[in-house]
Amino acid sequence: MQRILLALAVGLSWATAGHAAGYVFEHVTLLDGIHPPQRDMTVAVADGRITAVTPSALAQPLPGQRIDGRGKYLIPGLMDVHIHLKGGFDLAGKVDAEMGPPDREAGVAALASFLYAGVTTVYDAGNRAEHILPLRADERAGRILSPRIFATGNLITYPGSHGDSLAVRISDFEKDKALLDKHIAEQQPDILKLTLEEEGWGSRPMITLMPTDLLEKITRYYNQHGIRTTVHVSSELRALEAIYAGSDTLAHPVIQGPVSDSFVKLMAAKKTPFASTLTIGDNYSRLAEHPEYLDQPLYVASLTPAERDTLRSKTRAEWQARPWTWWMKLMTPIAQENVRKIHAAGGVVACGTDQTTGAATHRELELLVAAGIAPLDVIRIATYNSAVFLGKADQLGSIDTGKLADLVLLSKDPAADIDNTAAIVLVMKNGQIIDESQLPLAGGRQKRRYPAG
Ligand SMILES: [Zn+2]
Repeated sequence: MQRILLALAVGLSWATAGHAAGYVFEHVTLLDGIHPPQRDMTVAVADGRITAVTPSALAQPLPGQRIDGRGKYLIPGLMDVHIHLKGGFDLAGKVDAEMGPPDREAGVAALASFLYAGVTTVYDAGNRAEHILPLRADERAGRILSPRIFATGNLITYPGSHGDSLAVRISDFEKDKALLDKHIAEQQPDILKLTLEEEGWGSRPMITLMPTDLLEKITRYYNQHGIRTTVHVSSELRALEAIYAGSDTLAHPVIQGPVSDSFVKLMAAKKTPFASTLTIGDNYSRLAEHPEYLDQPLYVASLTPAERDTLRSKTRAEWQARPWTWWMKLMTPIAQENVRKIHAAGGVVACGTDQTTGAATHRELELLVAAGIAPLDVIRIATYNSAVFLGKADQLGSIDTGKLADLVLLSKDPAADIDNTAAIVLVMKNGQIIDESQLPLAGGRQKRRYPAG
């Protein structure tokens, strides 16, 4: 396979470069989890969109640069609908007054790690607004190499409740309405994130909870402004309350215990999308027990050598000593089974990690397969279902004429082994092939596990 290089005129923005030329993938197998696998297909791309999807045998001559897809697999760009971008969220542990400025460079490198891993869309579910919102503006203007960014900016929480450090705190709907108006006007959240989490589980003490009538009023208010919502929940009870307060999505699966059969049926009937977020719970004991995962190419690319050293030594020792690590090791298989059951019943699982690298997104795919979900279904979860979560399924998430051309070409079949989603030949966002050599990766480009050939 010849390497495909994108010729970039100096000064031409990433948003517009390459559009006019267009591309034609020929003789490729399409896999998107909503259609059955389609072999020997031709996909044409122009002006940022998919302009034709047809069996190669029937394809009319199409303009654009040819890409030989023989023996290769084309999937929609992967999505991670629960991240907290590095450089802001991770520096927010202290009280506000002690926070330094956000680390924009770390954020840009983390965004690059997503594109490098084939993730072309992310949703930031809570961050320092001054970090994520300028990056979202830069992404939309084509000033940085980044997946599509959707964001809440700040969360909305009840004072003293979960997620407070990144939040606008609302205690009374009428009294605090001006704060909501300000959040909407200044931050233009794509999806509002709220929290409904009293903690009091694992090794956590109980904390204050947002009253559900307030949750309902805020949800309705944002919906009236055209904004979807998601709610952090971890129990079946709070998930139900969030759904009946009108929440469009849930930011997590139930992780506090096994779900009831009636909850599974309800999730299948309502089709409320929820982010899978298995990686965050798995992440602690994985580092404690299997730090060698940090040597995988996607992690080496996504983290600086110093970050990997700190994780292997200091962080690992801290996490080994922490009850939370072992609680989450115990609960992750339960969360996996909850996700599997709801998926099997016809509910809408979306792919989210609650992490901040493209490497973590691939771990989420592994954990979904390990839960007992077929790889082809996991591709649907990480593409189409995630677009449904975002309210963007009319634009993103499948390989159909008219959709935005966010695509990943693979050299190996991801339906045979989900890890083949890392066998990346090229990543296309908005109809442009990402030039890997331009990605400001924290750890630099690595030899792909499966060379492009
Ligand atoms: Zn989160």
